[in-house]
Amino acid sequence: MDMKCIYCHSKTQVTNSRSKTLDSSVWRRRQCTTCQAEFSSIELPDYSKSLVVKSTSGKLFAFSRDKLFLSLHKALGHRQDVLNSASAICDTVVAKLIRQNDQEKGLIKASSLARTAHETLKRFDSLAASTYKAYHRHYIN
Ligand SMILES: [Zn+2]
Repeated sequence: MDMKCIYCHSKTQVTNSRSKTLDSSVWRRRQCTTCQAEFSSIELPDYSKSLVVKSTSGKLFAFSRDKLFLSLHKALGHRQDVLNSASAICDTVVAKLIRQNDQEKGLIKASSLARTAHETLKRFDSLAASTYKAYHRHYIN
């Protein structure tokens, strides 16, 4: 909670804060105790440390939102709104994975990651879903 002033590096105090339930971020308005300058900060969860993906061979690796985004971006490449749709679907998939994560105590199977992404794409764009499936054939039947 100790964030320094972006102008003079003195201590700041929180004057207002808001939680967004959609992406688990926390927005805070801060004021410097020395120069009185105001600025805001956003706190975001570090998914790379909270979600662990288990591959079919049993290997564990940290979940990467960037990697998921890139694979969705590739699948949605035919769309004009590819950036916005890939970003929105990425958020939805991450939210679903976090819900599964609660049930499975930190571990997500790589196959259920691929299946969750595929199901989410399918409801949105069937061509994107089949493109995604082609790249993840070993996970999706
Ligand atoms: Zn200051």
